[in-house]
Amino acid sequence: MEYCLTELQKSVKQMARTIAEEKILPVRAELDEKEEFPWAIIKNLAETDLLGVYIPEEYGGLGGGCLEFCLITEELSRACAGVAVSYAANALGSFTLLEYGSEEQKQKYLPDIAGGKKLTAFALTEETAGSDASAIKTTATRADGGYLINGTKQFITNGGEADIYTIVALTDREKGIRGASTLLVEKNTPGFTFGRKEKKLGIRTSATRELVFEDCLVPEENIIGREGMGFPMVMRLLDRSRPGIGAQAVGLAQGALEAAVDYAKQRNQFDQPVISFQAVSHMLANMATDVEAARALVYTAARTVDSGAKSFSMGSAMAKVFASDVAMRVTTDAIQIFGGVGYMRDYPVEKMMRDAKITQIYEGTNQILRDVIASGLRKKKAFE
Ligand SMILES: Cc1cc2nc3c(=O)[nH]c(=O)nc-3n(C[C@H](O)[C@H](O)[C@H](O)COP(=O)(O)OP(=O)(O)OC[C@H]3O[C@@H](n4cnc5c(N)ncnc54)[C@H](O)[C@@H]3O)c2cc1C
Repeated sequence: MEYCLTELQKSVKQMARTIAEEKILPVRAELDEKEEFPWAIIKNLAETDLLGVYIPEEYGGLGGGCLEFCLITEELSRACAGVAVSYAANALGSFTLLEYGSEEQKQKYLPDIAGGKKLTAFALTEETAGSDASAIKTTATRADGGYLINGTKQFITNGGEADIYTIVALTDREKGIRGASTLLVEKNTPGFTFGRKEKKLGIRTSATRELVFEDCLVPEENIIGREGMGFPMVMRLLDRSRPGIGAQAVGLAQGALEAAVDYAKQRNQFDQPVISFQAVSHMLANMATDVEAARALVYTAARTVDSGAKSFSMGSAMAKVFASDVAMRVTTDAIQIFGGVGYMRDYPVEKMMRDAKITQIYEGTNQILRDVIASGLRKKKAFE
């Protein structure tokens, strides 16, 4: 399919593909097995300026947008979704700063983020606040010289590895979620430590960790925007970042499809390659069609974000839901096409299936996102 990419888009996509093929493919199984954070690859991404693709040039980035970010995420994910999410979570941790941060905050943090000197993370989820993000309990109470943070965040991607954390906490407990605010917390701030490191089904090279805040004092200037703006900021942030999860899912599915086609061409049974059986080739045809449909939806959602449209909740949710369901289906079918060896760790498709599952869960489960889509439908008038 022709997606009419710009020169910048073509070039970042190609750079990401080169890193994926030369640097990620040879080590992805080892990274997965050892559950080791992919620092060497993050360094490669920094050297090629891909970490700051979505950051304006005036802060040291490449000045791209959501589509450029999605193209890179897709290419990385085609080789390893664990690396791709470590890359994408860095953007998630800095989008709020980019959109709502003060000029001083942008000058202070963005050049280091764009250059890959500092990695970021985003922390909303808590043990009792997952889908119901409004149930967060972490507090940031005004104290002499700033805000005193107390609470524990759970399942934070890049936790422990990142240098800058965008966290959501209640600055006014009485108001509940309407009293939530977004704050920046730097690693090594006294009172900020890391708790349990999760052992996961998939995306094992990525770090998923608890953040623990015990009387952690951050200066007043670390609040992003105004007190009480936290929840609307988070909703907007997730609308903006969900096409990225869609892109991660598309990359995964693309990788699984390519592996399945290759295998089906070279595996012989009944004296012929298994791809010559219609049952197999039609599975591959469905997989390829699904992947292309998901890609078209993700790119369109990303372009809508970049267009400056006021609202893009529905399109972003659709892209994430559709692409992640495709990734789950396609990676499962890829194992089927590999037969018994597909179930073994010697081949890449079992990892792809394990990695795909999370795309249906994080940044809003697909159940919650179907609610978002349905709510958009309820608001629309016929023939609008
Ligand atoms: C590997 C990993 C990385 C993550 N990274 C981050 C991160 O970087 N930052 C961060 O803040 N969070 C992160 N998360 C958290 C993630 O976004 C949440 O896990 C997710 O939103 C679901 O919340 P939950 O796990 O508490 O599930 P729950 O909310 O407990 O849901 C359990 C089940 O109930 C369903 N359900 C819940 N409410 C409804 C409803 N109203 N209608 C229909 N069904 C419903 C859900 O769909 C799900 O199937 C990560 C999670 C994982 C596993």
